[in-house]
Amino acid sequence: MSITRNISGKCPKCSGDLNIKIWDSVNAVYHPEEKEKIMKSELFKVECDSCGSEIALEYPCRYQDTDNHIMIYLIPDFSEDQVNELNDDLENISMPKMMEENKFRVVGNCDELIEKILIFGCDKRDRPIELCKKKVLKDLKIKDSNISPVAILYNHNSEGEYFSFIGCKDENGEVLKVPFDKELYKSLDIELVNRDAYKEGLYMVVDGSWASTLMKQ
Ligand SMILES: [Zn+2]
Repeated sequence: MSITRNISGKCPKCSGDLNIKIWDSVNAVYHPEEKEKIMKSELFKVECDSCGSEIALEYPCRYQDTDNHIMIYLIPDFSEDQVNELNDDLENISMPKMMEENKFRVVGNCDELIEKILIFGCDKRDRPIELCKKKVLKDLKIKDSNISPVAILYNHNSEGEYFSFIGCKDENGEVLKVPFDKELYKSLDIELVNRDAYKEGLYMVVDGSWASTLMKQ
């Protein structure tokens, strides 16, 4: 089940009263419509009845998709202590054997949550994806040393898979997109299998910092 509660707040634009629905947990199996709202960046928003402003909200939310063995905790600006606490809680419950293969992740914002759902939803692994991002950025920096994205996000649409370089523009002023290199992904995936880097069963952060640390080893 999904868990929700209502709180009241004030609109930052007009100070009008807001009735805000907080999603403490979203279950994609029982409530696929809520998953769709996450994917469209609509779930963590509230519209002000007085002035019509759309206000983005940030708060912790646990996303679970038991069919696909995914458990992702969205915690804005999370700390290492918070990740450790989640794992302490996990270790205090006796986990069924099947859950040991669950992909437990912690992400810091809604875009990263969407990205993880997309990656796992098309049967890919997030670890090689993070390594791909490093390689793609390195190649781009050779051509343009000033390139400095605030985030690189995996995405796909009807035309194929790509990385969005958030904060970087292409020649048309659109967000810079770089096609996803399937061969690179495959080779990095094999490398990680060989390094035995696919342990699951505890909450972990798989992001750019994770990739940088791994590359130094
Ligand atoms: Zn308002």
